[in-house]
Amino acid sequence: MGGCDPYSQSGKSITSMNNYLKLGRFSFGMGDRFARQGRAQLEACLQAARLGIEIVPVWNKSNREHSFIGTHPSGTRAAADAAIGALHWQGAYHVDADHIRLETVDRFIPHSDFFTIDVADSIGKAAAAVDVAAFAGRHPELIGTVVIPQIGGPFEITRAEFERVANQFLLSAQQAGRIYRHIAAAKGPAHFVTEVSMDETERPQTPPELLIILAALADEGVPLQTIAPKFTGRFNKGVDYVGDVAQFEREFNEDLAVIAFAVERFGLPPTLKLSVHSGSDKFSIYEPIRRALIRTGAGLHLKTAGTTWLEELIGLAEAGGDGLDMAREIYAAAIGQVDEFCAPYATVIDIDKSRLPCAEEVNAWTSEQFVSALRHDPVHPAFNPSFRQLLHVSFKVAAKKGDRYLNALARHESVIARNVTGNLFERHLKPLFAGVK
Ligand SMILES: [Zn+2]
Repeated sequence: MGGCDPYSQSGKSITSMNNYLKLGRFSFGMGDRFARQGRAQLEACLQAARLGIEIVPVWNKSNREHSFIGTHPSGTRAAADAAIGALHWQGAYHVDADHIRLETVDRFIPHSDFFTIDVADSIGKAAAAVDVAAFAGRHPELIGTVVIPQIGGPFEITRAEFERVANQFLLSAQQAGRIYRHIAAAKGPAHFVTEVSMDETERPQTPPELLIILAALADEGVPLQTIAPKFTGRFNKGVDYVGDVAQFEREFNEDLAVIAFAVERFGLPPTLKLSVHSGSDKFSIYEPIRRALIRTGAGLHLKTAGTTWLEELIGLAEAGGDGLDMAREIYAAAIGQVDEFCAPYATVIDIDKSRLPCAEEVNAWTSEQFVSALRHDPVHPAFNPSFRQLLHVSFKVAAKKGDRYLNALARHESVIARNVTGNLFERHLKPLFAGVK
């Protein structure tokens, strides 16, 4: 990784784009839909710290989530600060304005110090021909045979291929530059972390495409520290990775090599790392990721959100009584509107409707039956990934219940907290980071 360990430098950077809030090597995005689990989530990071794993907690919430639930970015900040204060967390932490665009960023600016600039909308739209030509002119080193250390064979990038990629992504990079400068003008560049996300798009980006994208972002002067490409395979919500794990591992490693190269070559921040979105519950790729981190010394940002909301439901069901009633009620509403809830998530869920129990059946379930169908234990015979995915996308049902739902969370706080912490620590932080040096 570029010959030196960027994480050992204290705030000093060798890049020209050296004015940014530095992000630690391992950071963990924790979405908290209803802003009640901050302490339980942070407790998972404390448990990791006791194992010697240094994690920077990041609370992320997108504009879309805020509008679905009826919350405001100030609430995310307040919940994060409260958790930090309550557990006396001494390390860094951030509040991520997730998937923002120029039209949606403003209300996040006072409350966030991490911005995930979503440029998916501009992907595939051609930039001005004169800009594409100028971009190619600035980067003769990316046309022809491009040798990247740590990658088996060189990339062969013809001029036509370079222009094709530029026409896919240059406009997005320009848009990222515009949004970055807008935030920097309002907050001051030294006061936030920049991520660029391209995961919510049709096609995965290949490693050579990532290289060209990073060149374009560097030209725009965006000091990005995390980039979220769309990886190969399916990142379904709240369940394991579906795809060719060997191919994922190869591309992940090539992406790491491309990033290390881009840092050296284009002067991007040495802390630049991959961000894995929909990163919760992807158990089968955690070991390949862990191996890559050990081998390269690279950093990682993993973003999770809905997995914590599902632990709220698990905790409610486990608590029994009115908690279990609430969990059953939410499922009954979800199954009643299954098509409506699933439609917006068609590309990120795979539900087998024939595996969804009817409301009457679930209403007769015990705590144990509900919990074992929902909890992400793939080897448990009662685990039902369709049931889990439907509930994953049905948080609007709980949002509609308002105080009734929030009061149930408060009544059963301790059992929910145990599940939230255990899920993040045992199933995520430990398999990803334990033993990584
Ligand atoms: Zn995303």
